[in-house]
Amino acid sequence: MRYQVDTHTHTLASTHAYSTIHDYIAEAKRKGIVLFATTDHGPDMADAPHAWHFINSRVIPRMVDGVGILRGIEANIKDEFGEIDCNDRMLNELDIILAGFHEQVFAPKDRDTNTRAMINAMKKGLVHVITHPGNPKFPIDIHAVAEAAAKYNVALEINNSSFLHSRVGSDVNCTAIAKAVRDAGGWVSLGSDSHIAFSLGDLEMSQAILDDVDFPADRVLNRSPRVLLDFLESRGMPHIPEFAGL
Ligand SMILES: [Zn+2]
Ligand SMILES: [Zn+2]
Repeated sequence: MRYQVDTHTHTLASTHAYSTIHDYIAEAKRKGIVLFATTDHGPDMADAPHAWHFINSRVIPRMVDGVGILRGIEANIKDEFGEIDCNDRMLNELDIILAGFHEQVFAPKDRDTNTRAMINAMKKGLVHVITHPGNPKFPIDIHAVAEAAAKYNVALEINNSSFLHSRVGSDVNCTAIAKAVRDAGGWVSLGSDSHIAFSLGDLEMSQAILDDVDFPADRVLNRSPRVLLDFLESRGMPHIPEFAGL
């Protein structure tokens, strides 16, 4: 089974990625993906787009050839207070806010500090999904993070590319995260973290982690476009009428 929803993709607006939104739409049509989020890196990363990239995202059509596009960001958690590099003008134009640790912006700290930063980022109420919390370079208190994620209604990502190209050693942490989210009654989000369109919707490795721990299918944001859209509305984001048919 292939999910029809992918919450995490990068375009060449971040120069270490290689595809355009057009490329992603073509790939979505080829694979039967009906909704994806375009989530370039927040401006504090070295080669990320300027804030204007996000502020102007209103020009991106909601639907192209039957494929829905969510305007998003993968913001950086900047400090232990959970600040992110996404200002109000950017937030006003965006549909989905992901945030995570990236070494260039927030150098890995000790477990307590990393945990505090991640929980504070969730507590502030702006972030919908924490990206790659299983990154072994940023040890966290998985139990505490999963409890906080359930409390603040934030999804924790099981990032498919962590098992392929980056963040070696994530599988053990991600299995523990999936278990902890399952037990806390929270949400997971599966993201391909594509940096090129060909991997859009590739979530098989993440799904294998969920299968390992009998993760409940109805707590996976990717389960259907409606599940993801309802989740975002439950977080206070406006209803998007153009997606009514999804
Ligand atoms: Zn990247
Ligand atoms: Zn990332």
